[in-house]
Amino acid sequence: MLFLQNYINGSLCPPISGQYIDCINPATGEIFAQVPDSGAEDVQQAVIAAEQAFPAWVALPTAERSKLLLNLADLIDQNSEKLALAETTDNGKPLSLSKRMDIPRAAANLRFFATAILHTHTETYLTDNQALNYVLRQPLGVVACISPWNLPLYLFTWKIAPALAAGNCVVAKPSEITPCTAYYFSELCQQAGLPAGVLNILHGLGSRVGEELVKHPTIKAVSFTGGTQTGKQIAALVAPQFKKLSLELGGKNATLVFESADIEQSATMAVKAAFTNQGQICLCGSRILVQRSIYEQFKKLFVEKVQQLKVQDPLLAEADLGAVVSASHYRKVLSYIDLAQQEGGKILCGGRAVQLQGRCEKGYFIAPTVIEGLTQNCRTNQEEIFGAVATLQPFDTENEAVQAANATPYGLAASVWTTHLTQAHRVAAHLDSGIVWVNCWLLRDLRTPFGGMKQSGVGREGGMEALEFFTETKNICIAY
Ligand code: NDP
Repeated sequence: MLFLQNYINGSLCPPISGQYIDCINPATGEIFAQVPDSGAEDVQQAVIAAEQAFPAWVALPTAERSKLLLNLADLIDQNSEKLALAETTDNGKPLSLSKRMDIPRAAANLRFFATAILHTHTETYLTDNQALNYVLRQPLGVVACISPWNLPLYLFTWKIAPALAAGNCVVAKPSEITPCTAYYFSELCQQAGLPAGVLNILHGLGSRVGEELVKHPTIKAVSFTGGTQTGKQIAALVAPQFKKLSLELGGKNATLVFESADIEQSATMAVKAAFTNQGQICLCGSRILVQRSIYEQFKKLFVEKVQQLKVQDPLLAEADLGAVVSASHYRKVLSYIDLAQQEGGKILCGGRAVQLQGRCEKGYFIAPTVIEGLTQNCRTNQEEIFGAVATLQPFDTENEAVQAANATPYGLAASVWTTHLTQAHRVAAHLDSGIVWVNCWLLRDLRTPFGGMKQSGVGREGGMEALEFFTETKNICIAY
């Protein structure tokens, strides 16, 4: 049994309560670790440590801050096998995906922000012959970073890297459902020589340690990625304190396939967009809108490809899908499959749990599921399922497609498949989405703004937007 510890002021320590939460491997259903059930007193210690570390951290030359973050990235690479296995054990995702995507991206996040701060500049404005204005971007102090379970180390580092690079000290809370890689990361911080208190990692429940953290008066900003309901609660808690708030929330993303698209390529990518990570990526395309003239052809190809996906023990190289993250999430996804049928949907493939043998006989596995025949306004097409469930809907005109794509409370991402250049520009401009991919999906450039409209979030992460979020902007006007 692995006993995880909090990371406070450079040391690994048990929670003050002495209480732990079970951590379950979703592929086997077995408890394999104990996670600190931290509370207000742990938050207080971590915030004090961060506050005390801040003056020295902010005074450190940028190149030295950068070097420490680069050391951490190198250590992630050196420990990538261990981290990938921990991610898969915690989350249930295929080990091949942890190795290919999660862990390399965690290192890339640190490298990106470690080097970005070496190349920043701020604006100056000459005001006629009267004054020179220049802008300072100064770190905020102590900030909170809260991350979810679907891409644990990937999203954890996506938040802490810009916060630390910009000169802040951080108290971070990973999801208690998938805490292991953040725990190993705290060991890497010790090896990298990160000064004590600069980063503190608290484990535990969102409703307990998470809330205490975001409410703490010393915390100047909260960067949160998670569900829309949790985002609402956090916004209500921190708004009266006028903290800076970045919210990356849920999605119900559309994949739009027009008749000019390369059908083979768009079907292959629509499968990836719907089912990567068991459909548990906020950017997954779970509503696939297809022009009626190619609908039957696309449907046949798409369903054939989905049927070829292997739901397997995530440790096996051939696994395309592993387990969903938890028993409660497994029940939630299956309940949406039932709901879809009650709403008149026809299951084209999947639609059931998968019972594996041996090591994984108690795991939470669901067959990738494709459904057609649902209206746009039914709950299955409106609510975020966050699982391997995709719906197919035909459309006739471009306008109809855009309206359907926009007709949910969310607005995170969309992917558009067309070979008509003008159509691509027109549709992209009319979609209510923070991110639009044309003839691709999840092609990421870390310099680009990332985030959602409507109930998918507030603010943008990525590139300079993240560094700006973690700083306070000050204009200085000097009269001649
Ligand atoms: P949750 O909102 O349940 O949790 C996210 C994090 O917030 C967890 O660490 C959680 O802790 C913590 N938390 C929960 N309640 C509170 C609270 N009241 N105060 C402070 N912290 C709290 O999301 P999930 O972990 O279930 O992640 C899935 C969701 O994340 C999906 O909706 C998905 O779309 C979204 N997401 C959005 C992304 C984006 O970039 N827009 C990217 C990835 C995911 P605990 O685990 O203990 O509940």
